[in-house]
Amino acid sequence: MNRTAHGLDNFFQFTYEELQLWGQSNHLSSFTAAQLFKDFYKHALMAPRWQRISIRAKQLLEQSFSFDLPGPAHVHQASDNTVKFLFTLEDGQSVEAVLIPFNQKYTLCISSQVGCAMGCTFCHTGTQGLIRNLRASEIAGQYIRAKQWLIQHRKNNAGITNVVFMGQGEPLHNFDEVKRACHILLARRGASLAEYKITVSTCGYMPGLVRWQTEMPNVNIALSLHAPDDIRRTQLIPINRAYPLTEVLREMDAIPLGKKRYITFEYLLIDRFNDSDEDALAIGELLKSSPAIFNIIPFNPYPGAQYQRPSADRTTRFAAIVSRFGFPVTVRATKGTDILAACGQLKSITTHGIEAG
Ligand code: SAH
Ligand code: SF4
Repeated sequence: MNRTAHGLDNFFQFTYEELQLWGQSNHLSSFTAAQLFKDFYKHALMAPRWQRISIRAKQLLEQSFSFDLPGPAHVHQASDNTVKFLFTLEDGQSVEAVLIPFNQKYTLCISSQVGCAMGCTFCHTGTQGLIRNLRASEIAGQYIRAKQWLIQHRKNNAGITNVVFMGQGEPLHNFDEVKRACHILLARRGASLAEYKITVSTCGYMPGLVRWQTEMPNVNIALSLHAPDDIRRTQLIPINRAYPLTEVLREMDAIPLGKKRYITFEYLLIDRFNDSDEDALAIGELLKSSPAIFNIIPFNPYPGAQYQRPSADRTTRFAAIVSRFGFPVTVRATKGTDILAACGQLKSITTHGIEAG
């Protein structure tokens, strides 16, 4: 359990069902948990509307829980309206989350760990190693904080409609807390995200994929594929040595998908590494029988990176060849590059020039 210095459990680690049970065992009305979920996750209030619940319920809640959220955040706004948050955690560590705009709506890209143990050779986060797992309260807390900021600073926004676990960390390496955070964000009384509006991206961490089949709610899964063969995939993603591509794909095939559901395959396109016509054909062959959506991410450079971004022509050609195989192919528009908020550029070290939001 996530206890604070005062010995209290952090409220934001609990699912709606758990809070209902807690309320029942304390003879509180079921309205109490519903009200708090609404206040925090739906309306992103700074504090609950205590006047709406009984004095006894308020006292019990205050004796039992702390309501600490990550923060205060430093906020960077990019010229394209992307917003990057740097959150300070209770132990002084920090993580980032990014709001990505799309027609007045936002996708929130959240982190699941401080750093990452997977050490992918193209990833800024990977260069720092794993510092620690985030708790569910810190994952759900990124959502509340980002929503609070949107309400205050972007008046006519339509809110956060999608959440992607594509910030720092390998979500399946922190399975329990990520699963818990998904349940919290799915709760109808609170954020009420639909299952298909949450996407968990993995580099193919097999122990998590095995558990996914029976334990995860029916949220979307995205696999960072990045190469059609094990030799180059291992060069990019070292754990591919332990969990080779064919085994990862077999495990993913076993994950039950709901109606009209698909698996997203992300493909980091790197100049003269995995961007040839032959590679595009090999990818098409590999995925042609999967319910795939193929998402090309042109490599985002960062200081000290060993790879280069392919040209726009090369990217378009690669996309065109893969799309001949009949599944949807998208090229991810790079957002927020002027503030290093794009995929793989997140690193939890405070860079100079960050302004308080
Ligand atoms: N650990 C998970 C999720 C976080 S990374 C995973 O690896 O899937 C989210 C996405 O950003 C992954 O597809 C990852 O490969 C990609 N990424 C990492 N570094 C990148 C970079 N420098 N440029 C573009 N995409 C990058
Ligand atoms: Fe970790 Fe994903 Fe970065 Fe690899 S790409 S180091 S798994 S965050």
